[in-house]
Amino acid sequence: MTKEKFKLGFYWAASCGGCEIAVLDINEKILDVVQIADIVFWPVAMDVKYREVEAMPDKYIDICFFNGSIRSEEQEHMAKLLREKSKVLVAFGSCAQEGCIPGLANLHDRKEIFSKVYLKSKSISNPKEVVPKTRSEVKEGVLKLPEFYDTVKTLDQTVDVDYYLPGCPPPVKLILNAVDAIAKNTLPPKGSVLAPLKSVCDECPRKKDNKRISKIYRVHEKIPEPEKCLLEQGIICMGPATRSGCGAQCLTVDMPCTGCGGPCPNSPEQGAAMISALASILGLEGEQEHYSQEDVDKLIGQIKDPIGTFYMYSLPSSILRRKVME
Ligand code: SF4
Ligand code: SF4
Ligand code: SF4
Repeated sequence: MTKEKFKLGFYWAASCGGCEIAVLDINEKILDVVQIADIVFWPVAMDVKYREVEAMPDKYIDICFFNGSIRSEEQEHMAKLLREKSKVLVAFGSCAQEGCIPGLANLHDRKEIFSKVYLKSKSISNPKEVVPKTRSEVKEGVLKLPEFYDTVKTLDQTVDVDYYLPGCPPPVKLILNAVDAIAKNTLPPKGSVLAPLKSVCDECPRKKDNKRISKIYRVHEKIPEPEKCLLEQGIICMGPATRSGCGAQCLTVDMPCTGCGGPCPNSPEQGAAMISALASILGLEGEQEHYSQEDVDKLIGQIKDPIGTFYMYSLPSSILRRKVME
């Protein structure tokens, strides 16, 4: 008797589309996937209407890979609908897991974002100052748009999530491991992150000498020595605070880890973990015991864009979550 195939779904919410491309990056392995699974919903590749999903029985989809964070009414509706229709819901990629780059919008609110995008941007000509509304009456009838929320949320701040596949986008190896675990029914306990337990530093081939640093460089300010730890050369590298699984791939091309693998298992607050790692090696020449406030300000002042550096991917999932607006 032919074994019944899995039913798979894919969806994108507030995302850049990179996670969809990552699915295609598994190349010919996609043929192995279609041997064991039928794809029943994938708006980027198939013409399936939302109403067809609404008509599916509950838990009809075996596994749904959901990428993108939640920042609009439509995305929230789809997250809730796909939760209802799926046995297993996977937060696929950093946007769904942590909020990621779209989550940096939490430094502003809707009013500020609309003002910048629709009114003040240099490429905009909008003399009537039109901004999107959820409801507009025109002679043909009423036009409706989903509400754009003030705050970007992660998938698990919206619905219950079964698994997390980290990365921006998730590395091919992790996607294939997840598909393999699904096929063999060897998925770990609910709530697991489908990635190794180590940090990027553990996978990185660069040599650490436990050196202190007193000067911080941005990536374009210094050509790094090829085999030495970037952090010990003064380039902020999120490797100590980031979960591995990518093979430390950025480090192999002289770029620091910016943290897309998400937090390490024992330090869920990734930004704070990195600030702590940096504090342990940052110091002025001469190993002074006591720093004046001026010394401290001088050291810290070298870190440009602290939120973008330490919370590039994790602002919505962090304890900071968003900037408080008056
Ligand atoms: S996790 Fe990265 S690649 Fe995936 S949708 Fe978000 S920004 Fe794009
Ligand atoms: S801090 Fe960065 S460069 Fe240094 S060992 Fe860790 S991952 Fe490699
Ligand atoms: S090295 Fe860091 S930023 Fe680069 S892919 Fe790996 S986890 Fe992401």
